[in-house]
Amino acid sequence: MSTRARIPSLDLTVQVETLWPELLGAVKRVLRSAAYIMGPEVHAFEEEVAQYLGVRHAVACNSGTDALVLALRALGIGPGDEVITTPFTFFATPEAVSSVGARPVFVDIDPDSLNLDPAGIEAAVTARTRAILPVHLFGRSCDMAGIMAAAGRHGLRVVEDCAQGFGARHLGRPVGGLGHAGCFSFFPTKNLSGFGDGGLMATDDEDLARTARMLRVHGSRQKYHNEAVGYNSRLDELQAALLRVKLPHVEAWNAGRSVAAARYRGLLAGRPGLVLPALAEGHVFNQYTVRLAAGRDRTRARLAEAGIDSMVYYPVPCHRLQVYARSHQGTRCPEAERACDEVLSLPLWPDMDPDIQVQVAEALAAANGAA
Ligand SMILES: *Cc1c(COP(=O)(O)O)cnc(C)c1O
Repeated sequence: MSTRARIPSLDLTVQVETLWPELLGAVKRVLRSAAYIMGPEVHAFEEEVAQYLGVRHAVACNSGTDALVLALRALGIGPGDEVITTPFTFFATPEAVSSVGARPVFVDIDPDSLNLDPAGIEAAVTARTRAILPVHLFGRSCDMAGIMAAAGRHGLRVVEDCAQGFGARHLGRPVGGLGHAGCFSFFPTKNLSGFGDGGLMATDDEDLARTARMLRVHGSRQKYHNEAVGYNSRLDELQAALLRVKLPHVEAWNAGRSVAAARYRGLLAGRPGLVLPALAEGHVFNQYTVRLAAGRDRTRARLAEAGIDSMVYYPVPCHRLQVYARSHQGTRCPEAERACDEVLSLPLWPDMDPDIQVQVAEALAAANGAA
């Protein structure tokens, strides 16, 4: 064990230190305002995010998971409906589908992008299919052109899971405004991160926005005149105020993530048995995820011994999770299954010290090389 400090998967301390006076100012402002729920900070944050994303409406809520639920509910998706999605994602994606009473239908990924492969959509469409729920995994946008084309052919709605893709672009346009609704998370590990839970649904569709706003406050447009069974899913004023401090920096942080990713590419390219993330325009590298042809778990354990944290996003494809194993017994997604065995996410954050990346690259060579 070296005497060097442990290298974490993510280090947000520099961000906090840099913005300390502004963050503190935001907290004081909210505490003194005595408006803690659905006040001016949430309103301003929604407007600022809508402008950043180039969408008409932004509806802030309690989490990324809730943003997905609100979008699906607002689209009228429920029991008896099917939603096509990727099995290579965080469980919250299909969980949102299940929690509105619909059935997630898993379509395999494209091994190059690790995202939902539009080529598999046609075969999965049934009379019950209502929507497609693509995920811009690790900050790389899906093939939205292919997904929107398939949706158009079958009259399906598209809800983008942008939890890992704040600021990611597809053909120059921010994700989240490309489908009918885009759902974001401000969980601390995301590219725009709060100090706790938070989420937001973006849309150009006014009706959808109105319905989502109604659902997030107990299904009421007018207080005490509830018209639907909704949720208590609001973003706190405190979180909104803190996120407003961070929002103007997200472009620079995403650029910093790309610089760090390019540095890893320079350090790791050409190593046998190691596949690096494919080059893609508009990638914001929520994660820098490599694939190891063999021995992923052993390599990860050796990195840990060398003081370097790494993560496996995700070890089990959703259709193989215990919760779905029985209901999705017949599902076959070999590319997603293979990815789950091979992926390893290396430490990465916006203002990362290049020396740390050299250490990670060297440790990875040692850990992966020695049999
Ligand atoms: C983080 C995440 C979510 C859920 O976001 P929460 O804010 O934690 O509820 C959904 N989908 C994906 C792909 C995520 O990474």
